[in-house]
Amino acid sequence: NSVFEHILQASEDPILGVTVAYNKDPSPVKLNLGVGAYRTEEGKPLVLNVVRRAEQMLVNDKSRVKEYLPIVGLADFNKLSAKLILGADSPAIQENRVTTVQCLSGTGSLKIGAEFLYRHYNQHTILIPKPTWGNHARIFALSGIAVTSYRYYDPATRGLNFEGLLEDLGSAPSGAIVLLHACAHNPTGVDPTPQQWEKIRQLMRSKALLPFFDSAYQGFASGNLDTDAHSVRIFVADGGECLVAQSYAKNMGLYGERVGALSIVCRTPDVAGRVESQLKLVIRPMYSNPPIHGASIVARILKDSTMYQEWTVELKAMADRIISMRQKLFDALRNKGTPGDWSHIIKQIGMFTFTGLNRNQVSFMTEEYHIYMTSDGRISMAGLSSKTVPHLADAIHAAVT
Ligand code: PMP
Repeated sequence: NSVFEHILQASEDPILGVTVAYNKDPSPVKLNLGVGAYRTEEGKPLVLNVVRRAEQMLVNDKSRVKEYLPIVGLADFNKLSAKLILGADSPAIQENRVTTVQCLSGTGSLKIGAEFLYRHYNQHTILIPKPTWGNHARIFALSGIAVTSYRYYDPATRGLNFEGLLEDLGSAPSGAIVLLHACAHNPTGVDPTPQQWEKIRQLMRSKALLPFFDSAYQGFASGNLDTDAHSVRIFVADGGECLVAQSYAKNMGLYGERVGALSIVCRTPDVAGRVESQLKLVIRPMYSNPPIHGASIVARILKDSTMYQEWTVELKAMADRIISMRQKLFDALRNKGTPGDWSHIIKQIGMFTFTGLNRNQVSFMTEEYHIYMTSDGRISMAGLSSKTVPHLADAIHAAVT
């Protein structure tokens, strides 16, 4: 008898399980709009030209060796990542009160932040938006932090429930951690306006709530890296403290390379130094030090102004293609006379559209049209192309009529 005999079969991850089901479907018209990964007009994964070039340079550089990185990762990568999210002229960087550690993409950055907060922050409560990316609750809960939610999405308007959000943050325990999507909220595609961000900032600072930004889509929402960092930067500009988890999965297309960074903005350089020393103690027993390849690609690109420029052009092209898919899907539904107001498709931003389709409509579309998406009705606009828009529009039309 196996010593593991008692183990029960676990269910598939609700997001990654969509791809498992998709792979099993033999239909030639099948369409995977589940996972948040960019696809070209031809439906293919994309490696950016600038990434290929950086990799070539790394391979050709015979002085490069495979030694371990320090516990906190590649120094250049960390410095440049902080600069990318906080801005080149950020006073926090100039005053040396930011500590940045290289982590395993966005997920790993959130996890290191969660473990650090559990050990070194006295308020073990985090508020996450409702709804949010499916992994948030588990990441924090498994680090011993109590997870509650704040109202975010309003199904009636398919927009932000701003009043509800302010009420819930207003009644949070003083000092609680608040998870904020820096831009392109997943799964809803609904972001606060700059005016609303300012109100959120004032409220959070007045209650000493600690902001933990998840920045998984910088540049992907608007096509502009600075615009998409606005929310984070207003919280740093007020001199207060915050955490930021960055991912290069989407904006550099480095998904499987697992490149990300956690920055903790502190009040003083002295605190930042001590925070970093403790981050090392979190990381060392988990995986000792992070992998070298992906971070080296990012550092090359961020360091070289020509390559950086090239990256912003390729990034904008991805963002623009997604935005054009929104318009195409909206137009297709309008032309078919599909009942309902579909303007949220063009109003929402980032990789996803929160369609408002319910669980039954989603399973209908999977069964009859071989279209795969998460059961909450979220579709990845990045997985769509001009060729597949009509098929999706047909399926949505049939599902709602
Ligand atoms: N946060 C959000 C909101 C996300 O959508 C994602 C990716 N789906 C992540 C974090 C982390 O992704 P990764 O670990 O691949 O960087």
